[in-house]
Amino acid sequence: MCPPTVVEVAVFAPLRKTFHYLSEFPGNPPSTGSLVKVPFGRGQRFGIVIGPAKQKTERQLKAIREVVDEKPVVGSAIMRLAKWAAEYYQHPLGDVLAATLPGALRHGSAPARKGLSEWVVVLDEQSDANQLDRSATRQATLLSLIKQGPKVATDFEGLEFDWRRPIKELEKKGFVSKRVRPDAVVQSAPAKSLVNLNDAQRAAVAALNSSNGSFHACLLHGVTGSGKTEVYMAAIEHTLSNGLGALMLVPEIILTQQMVARLTQRFGNAVGVLHSGLSDSQRAQVWLRCRDGEIKILMGTRSAVWVPLPSIGIIIVDEEHDGSFKQQEGFRYSARDVAIKRAQQLGIPIVLGTATPSLEAYLNVENGKFKVLPLPERVGIAQMPKLHCVDVRGVRLRGGLSDRLCEEMTACIARNEQVLLFLNRRGFAPIVLCHQCGHVATCHRCDAKLVWHKERGLLSCHHCGAQKNTERIEACCPEPDLVPLGLGTEQVEETLGELFPDVVIARIDRDTMRRKSAMEETFAAVRSGAVNVLIGTQMLAKGHDFSKVSLVGIIDADSQLFSTDFRAEEKLAQTIVQVSGRAGRAEFPGTVLIQTHHPQHKLLQTLLTRGYDEFAHMALAERHSAALPPYVPMALIRAESPRPELPIKFLQTLARAVKAEQIKGLDIFGPIPAAMEKRAGRFRAQVMLTASSRRILASSVKRFVETSEGVPARNNVRWSVDIDPLDTT
Ligand code: ADP
Ligand code: ZN
Repeated sequence: MCPPTVVEVAVFAPLRKTFHYLSEFPGNPPSTGSLVKVPFGRGQRFGIVIGPAKQKTERQLKAIREVVDEKPVVGSAIMRLAKWAAEYYQHPLGDVLAATLPGALRHGSAPARKGLSEWVVVLDEQSDANQLDRSATRQATLLSLIKQGPKVATDFEGLEFDWRRPIKELEKKGFVSKRVRPDAVVQSAPAKSLVNLNDAQRAAVAALNSSNGSFHACLLHGVTGSGKTEVYMAAIEHTLSNGLGALMLVPEIILTQQMVARLTQRFGNAVGVLHSGLSDSQRAQVWLRCRDGEIKILMGTRSAVWVPLPSIGIIIVDEEHDGSFKQQEGFRYSARDVAIKRAQQLGIPIVLGTATPSLEAYLNVENGKFKVLPLPERVGIAQMPKLHCVDVRGVRLRGGLSDRLCEEMTACIARNEQVLLFLNRRGFAPIVLCHQCGHVATCHRCDAKLVWHKERGLLSCHHCGAQKNTERIEACCPEPDLVPLGLGTEQVEETLGELFPDVVIARIDRDTMRRKSAMEETFAAVRSGAVNVLIGTQMLAKGHDFSKVSLVGIIDADSQLFSTDFRAEEKLAQTIVQVSGRAGRAEFPGTVLIQTHHPQHKLLQTLLTRGYDEFAHMALAERHSAALPPYVPMALIRAESPRPELPIKFLQTLARAVKAEQIKGLDIFGPIPAAMEKRAGRFRAQVMLTASSRRILASSVKRFVETSEGVPARNNVRWSVDIDPLDTT
């Protein structure tokens, strides 16, 4: 008998090491990438086999309990990507691998593959019916049928029993296997595009197509409405014609229904969509169909970057600048950056599209890492909108609206065109004060004011989700008289109703769009022209193509002008350009009014008179002189605890130890309390690191991690590493 083999397993636990287990399948240990169940501590955990153990261990090893999957859930390409990410983001490999899998698969409860009708069931080569359990009569019946030749679902429909389970059993035992039915996958030529690409689009497509088969990163810098999506689709079509598929990442799918529709229209059922709105089992289904090559084109949000696609030929990241590509908790990775790595590892092109490139992208262009493909003009006769500041100093504001904005709105509505108002604050008012007693409602778990949601009669904390009924504000008077301070979308909607009693208003924010159908209904109403005025948050800023919107009002540009976050200006500029991009996308010329108390502010002046490119170069120069990203790599070490003094103390210990090493090229800032020190009942602090090189940053963060192992206080403190943090406050 062969001696038992020892394998290395990355257990799904936030531990920065792998473990050795015995495999009791002599001579046939579970393959690399297999999902296994192993004894761990007093219980059991799932994990992924990393490979045969490299060095011998003296200790008594425990044995793997179960090999869960039939074929390894983590293939070699994703394994390689995960290992890179674990190293780059300094995150435990087990946790990274868990994040690459849909929840259902992670817990070993993969749902039955649906869509068997798109499959043929064939006899496995070594299949021997004599080995079948005698009592398994249904399996025997099916097996005898399949012996006569490959079968599809409809072939079993005449049977008087449910054949699904027994087929699965047969599959599991290795008697039969499912293969993609050749005619079920769209291999035929995709529907022809109805548009004739313009010169800029054609040049972009040609550049992308010529880089097929090798790694190239291209920045498709196209102004809003310049036809980026058509470029993506042409590139996908070319890739398909080479027999390869595509991965397309988008910030938030719920906002991109139009894009999904356009892709499916063009490429039929070769398109799969993955987003957070799906159930666990739906996600697993999409994942399985991708892995098995049935889905050729996967469109999805952040986590789609980890989905195995056996024959991928191109990666597309739409709205490259968007912050939602960054996972902000747990395993803090940037799906955009992981996508670039994936393309590099696979040797395929990646295209990053946006109207407002991130400063990181600009620098990559400057360094020659990205090639720019410009789409400088809108398609057809559509013109770029005209941007104006409305100086609101000293002027009357009703529900946040100046008379100037109201006049323009009236004229726009009279022309039967649509108005879009943007305010990135939902609720009725961000602060509420009791006029009787002066009490300001605050969250007792966070350093934050409660936001008034008048419609729902609630005060709610936007940081921890705590909610209070407005009827029962503690420490307030018997008859509270609530006065709003500041402005939210709900209040603007209320004022609009008073100022424009005859117009149809649609509010679009997370409160009104809780149901997916609400979103679809509202957008359909907007497109049909039934809606006159749209008021909404960030949700309105992205990607929509509303052809009748000709006036955009940005109600409050000021709140972000003076933020402590070094990225605030970049974000504001992107928001202004993106929101403005909703205006004048078709034959109606667009106007954008930006209400501000600081019309002379450098950001607004640069953006309005010289455009986003100029703004970006100015912002880059500032980052350069302040030694901030993208010029220097940055990491943030965060700590939190229910006890106020612990996070700072903990970080101080680590920082002191690392500072003592006097690492050249490393700067350590802090620890300092987070801008909002208390959140959800925990006190938070952070240390910021910048370094003169990636290598120095990585080794310094590693020193923090190592030092932490020896700090006794760590059991009361939760802490995390954030490489390339987006939110540094
Ligand atoms: P972007 O993604 O850059 O904002 P889209 O790809 O959504 O732009 O294009 C905006 C609109 O213009 C869409 O309705 C699209 O169908 C249309 N369009 C794009 N390219 C062309 C073209 N070459 N000719 C005609 N219409 C086009
Ligand atoms: Zn709170």
